[in-house]
Amino acid sequence: MPTLPADISPLAVIGSRRMGAADGAVLASINPATGTVLTDLPACGPAEIDAAVAAARARFEAGSWAAMAPRQRKAILLRVADAVAARAEEFALLETLDAGKPIGDTRAVDVPLALGTLRYYAEAIDKIHGEVGPSGPDRLSWALHDPLGVIGAIVPWNFPLHMAMWKIAPAIAMGNSVVVKPSELTSLTALRFAEVALEAGLPDGVLNVVPGTGAAAGAALASHMDVDMITFTGSGPVGRQLLRYSADSNLKRVSLELGGKSPHIVFADWPDLDRAAEAAAWGIFYNQGQVCTAGSRLLVQRSIHAEFVERLIKVAATIRPGDPLDPATRLGAIISEKQMNGVLSRIADARREGADLVLGGEQARKDSGGFFIEPTIFDNVDPAGALAREEVFGPVLAVIPFDTPEEALRLANDSDFGLASGLWTGSMTTANHFARALRAGLVWINGWDACDITMPFGGFKQSGFGRDRSLHALYKYADLKSISVSFPA
Ligand code: NAD
Repeated sequence: MPTLPADISPLAVIGSRRMGAADGAVLASINPATGTVLTDLPACGPAEIDAAVAAARARFEAGSWAAMAPRQRKAILLRVADAVAARAEEFALLETLDAGKPIGDTRAVDVPLALGTLRYYAEAIDKIHGEVGPSGPDRLSWALHDPLGVIGAIVPWNFPLHMAMWKIAPAIAMGNSVVVKPSELTSLTALRFAEVALEAGLPDGVLNVVPGTGAAAGAALASHMDVDMITFTGSGPVGRQLLRYSADSNLKRVSLELGGKSPHIVFADWPDLDRAAEAAAWGIFYNQGQVCTAGSRLLVQRSIHAEFVERLIKVAATIRPGDPLDPATRLGAIISEKQMNGVLSRIADARREGADLVLGGEQARKDSGGFFIEPTIFDNVDPAGALAREEVFGPVLAVIPFDTPEEALRLANDSDFGLASGLWTGSMTTANHFARALRAGLVWINGWDACDITMPFGGFKQSGFGRDRSLHALYKYADLKSISVSFPA
């Protein structure tokens, strides 16, 4: 039975201290691939959040991080990145044990992308300029990006380290102090990262990590009177709740990266159907479908619909759930028993609604004790039905045929969400028209998920507001301050 490395003892990181919950409460951290307890996590609550916010505030007010020359912050952050890189294998193993993700993915994707994010913002921070205003000759005016203060980061379980880094890296590079509340399902890599960062020279209090449930630790952080901003990735209902906490406390800023029901469109004029079928399969099944940008609605032009679905099934049938610790595995475990049962009940509902189940639909690897689901494809899905409208957050694809580009655009935009979208077409005219007309924060043409840290990431409509990645994310963690000096005649 895989266990945690012996030197991992997951305690909250608050200032320079590592501690459990004051009342001794713990939460079981489960390995989704086996259903067994990996370790106990401190079940922190308002007391530990208060302590973490105080440590973060003290560091911010001391000015020893916020007012440090940007090139010095950069040097420290790059040292932290090097320290994590030296332990990359340990981070990959922790993430795989904790989240059920294939080790091949945590090695090749989660850890390298988290490191790339940290290095990107470290490198960026000494290249950020303010502005000089075009004032008259008797005045000099300039605008500065001032860090906000204490940032609360509440993050999900699907890319635990990577999503946390999307928040931590730009926020601390900008000079803020951060309190992270990781998902109670996957806290290990964020806790380990904070420890390694302290050892590598990040001043204590800049980064604090407090594990606990959303209802206890998350709510305490989001309601705190001394937190200046909440940056969040997670579900829509929790996002709404965070806006209420803000309104009921100190009007802290809130940035929300929420869910999606992203349309992936294949036109008959795209010449390489195999390539599109491969992308359509991985666009939904990567990370067991637990991706906010998953291409969960596949819109296929009717003239190629039957042939395309055949090719898609051929690709998807090769994607089998396996042991996440096996380097050959490409589809791992669903995060929890509750999530697995939720996805299975969505599958049962879709069957009842009359969609054609053409692949999968069942729990897999039951003998493992873990939480696995076969890649599942429904064809001829009713665009008005729940499977086409609601996020499943599991390996379940809804295929919807269309006849004309106008119909494809109407179907694609007929969603409460607007996170990602994509299309395959041989026509520049169609590509250009859809790029402009799709109501989504991300549009991928002839290559699903073809984007990187340099481009803004975030949604339109109920997929949230605010952007992660790119230089825009740095500015999100700053206020503009205008300063003027007068030169009286
Ligand atoms: P979730 O909203 O249940 O939990 C996210 C975080 O919020 C967790 O840390 C949780 O403990 C915390 N939380 C829960 N209740 C809270 C409360 N009352 N107050 C404060 N914090 C609270 O989401 P999840 O199940 O962890 O993640 C899956 C969801 O995240 C999906 O809907 C998915 O689409 C979305 N997601 C979005 C993006 C994006 O960038 N848009 C990326 C990944 C995941």
